Amino acid sequence: MEIYEDDDVETEEKIQEQKQVEEKPKLDVRRKRIRKLRKMLDLVVHASQCRSANCPYLNCRKVKGLFKHGQMCRTRATGGCSLCKKMWDLKNICGGGGHQ
Ligand SMILES: [Zn+2]
Ligand SMILES: [Zn+2]
Repeated sequence: MEIYEDDDVETEEKIQEQKQVEEKPKLDVRRKRIRKLRKMLDLVVHASQCRSANCPYLNCRKVKGLFKHGQMCRTRATGGCSLCKKMWDLKNICGGGGHQ
């Protein structure tokens, strides 16, 4: 009987190890998402201050193009413009994302 009890303990430990392994990827995904959001935030902050038309950051020029579009566009996000929706997504990350 004693041998069986030992076996049970071992099995429980193995189950706990498996659970820990299962939780790790989820944490990584969350961290990656946060890192991505921070990168976006940095990018938007940079792009809003950047005055260089030939900025080495391709994404900066993309964001600036998006903001410029938002000023020129007549359709707007409310009219269903996907570019404007993208721009508002970026602005929302910049405005409210950091205070959660
Ligand atoms: Zn720039
Ligand atoms: Zn638009």
